[in-house]
Amino acid sequence: MSDERARFETLAVHGGEPRPAEDGSVIFPIYQGTVFESAPGSSVDDVRYIRLGTNPTQCHLHRRLAVLEGAETAIATASGMAAITGALHSVLKTGDHLIAGGTFYGGTSRFLAEHAERLGWTFDLVDPADEAAWEKALRPDTKAFLVESITNPLVRVGALAEAARFAHRHGLVSIIDNTFATPVNFRPHEVGFDLVCHSATKALNGHSDIAAGAVTGSRDLIGEVAAVLGAYGGSLDPHAAFLLARGLKTLALRVRAQNNNALALARFLDSHEKIAHVSHPGLASHPDHERAAALFDGFGSVLSFRPAGGASAAEALIKSLRLPYDASSLGGVESLVTRPAVGSHTRLGAVEAEGIGEDLIRFSAGIEASEDLIADFAQALEG
Ligand SMILES: *Cc1c(COP(=O)(O)O)cnc(C)c1O
Repeated sequence: MSDERARFETLAVHGGEPRPAEDGSVIFPIYQGTVFESAPGSSVDDVRYIRLGTNPTQCHLHRRLAVLEGAETAIATASGMAAITGALHSVLKTGDHLIAGGTFYGGTSRFLAEHAERLGWTFDLVDPADEAAWEKALRPDTKAFLVESITNPLVRVGALAEAARFAHRHGLVSIIDNTFATPVNFRPHEVGFDLVCHSATKALNGHSDIAAGAVTGSRDLIGEVAAVLGAYGGSLDPHAAFLLARGLKTLALRVRAQNNNALALARFLDSHEKIAHVSHPGLASHPDHERAAALFDGFGSVLSFRPAGGASAAEALIKSLRLPYDASSLGGVESLVTRPAVGSHTRLGAVEAEGIGEDLIRFSAGIEASEDLIADFAQALEG
């Protein structure tokens, strides 16, 4: 089908699917095989081998991912961290410098804090909304600019289009972790990002049952990422690739439901007397609301808030909730609730520095009925 002209919901179902389908199968099969016969006259570059991500089920997923992010091509990875570290390794050599804008996902912060130095990389953490700070951080050896579409757990939205333009102007490779926004809400290649990374463990798969990641971009840049993944061994198993390709079919429906649930719950909590503060980019009171409204088609599944009454009130509230699981992931069909200061961000020293207090609760909306989620929070707040 002509992918360019279809809307996102249609692309999620049909994008990258071979037509006519092989053997008439509506569903692309799982090729579990590790290796495939060489065609006559083929070269070493044509080798189809599972670790290299060139098994047909992996290639099928790559086509589907590329269509959804509007990229030339894609590579699937064994996890979100494999996507981010693969992208960074593909761009940075010993002696290179990275500008990193944001309060990063815990795994990304930890990777930079614990591995950059031994790899010979230097980096500066900057405010992703403050272009003057980027200018100041810029050095002759700066090679890349890394940001996240929505930060965790304070759900801030940086000056993303400006960051992509800044990187382009200074010859840096711009890399964005688009896990929190998903391509339903934001397609970073449209504003000029070079590499888009995902933890597909989250919303892309959506069912909390596989670890996976993805990087999308130009053929040249993804070729470099694929070479890194081949060298380190970070490809995605074909069975997980099949499940992820299946999950993508309902991505638009799931993310829209999550957007709606998160916004409805944010509004409910914002007007509740037992809640001190709510942060969700869909609320007009959020400091980045206007920027998010201009960039995004939806505001995402995550909100964070502080109950009046501090850490003990937060702990009690989580215990009283019946629907959301007390667990620290996001983007699945089931709602999750967690306290980042005692979970994902515990070891980061970011707890005081970034204002992530022990009273902060992060909520990841699932696809339940918003009335039921609100009723659950209402009963929990009664207590
Ligand atoms: C979960 C997550 C990651 C890491 O993904 P894994 O699949 O757990 O390796 C990276 N970035 C963000 C924003 C995430 O939420």
